[in-house]
Amino acid sequence: MEKFTVDGIVIKTSVTGESDLIVFVLTRGAGIIRAFAKGARGAKSRLHAGCSLFAYCSFSFTEKNGVYNVNEAEIKEIFFDLRNDISALTLAQYFCEIILKTQSEGEGDEEMLRLLLGALYYLCAGKKDKLLIKSVFELRTAALSGYAPSVHACASCGAFQTENMFFDCLSGELFCEKCGNAALLPQVSLSVVAAMRHIVFSEPEKVFSFRLSPELTPVLTRLTEKYVQNCFQQRFSLLEFFYSVYSL
Ligand SMILES: [Zn+2]
Repeated sequence: MEKFTVDGIVIKTSVTGESDLIVFVLTRGAGIIRAFAKGARGAKSRLHAGCSLFAYCSFSFTEKNGVYNVNEAEIKEIFFDLRNDISALTLAQYFCEIILKTQSEGEGDEEMLRLLLGALYYLCAGKKDKLLIKSVFELRTAALSGYAPSVHACASCGAFQTENMFFDCLSGELFCEKCGNAALLPQVSLSVVAAMRHIVFSEPEKVFSFRLSPELTPVLTRLTEKYVQNCFQQRFSLLEFFYSVYSL
């Protein structure tokens, strides 16, 4: 039996047995770990709070024959304010849905955890447009999963920028105004191009640090959402509900 401790956040729970849970934990550096949390549904269990959705903890696991158990969950943050805002909560669940469909069990780099923690922090703080947080999460997750869009220059002639550009949500390529086909591709302004470049290329700690006008934020989020759906060949069921309850 192997014991180890790792930081991670609960991104899904499912009920098993009379009072047990299976928790899916996105860890710092070991991808997703699926583990049994014995008795965690009991209100008096020492694992109860630490094994709830969005609990960020120092987890102590034991592993035997590929089966993991949670021994301890020392809480660092529980993002309680998500529960006070239905659209923030739905978006947080959508982020977890993307992670569950795109990240592997047992392997992964630290940045995915960092990105989710940053997104949840900004959702709780309530000062950033949720659509902007959503775009950052979508595009950066695509990049971290090997689907970085090619936004550094026009894919055809290499021009860095023209007054307007076009983005192909299927291929992830950017085109200048001479090479892009206006009939087929959505036109994107330079501010949106700059935002996409920032999300893809910035240092992890700066990925949320940029501004985009409120009029252009919905344009960016439509592009990133479509691109992510194309990359992962998925429609994410929570999005429809998110838009029905979304407010700034
Ligand atoms: Zn071009």
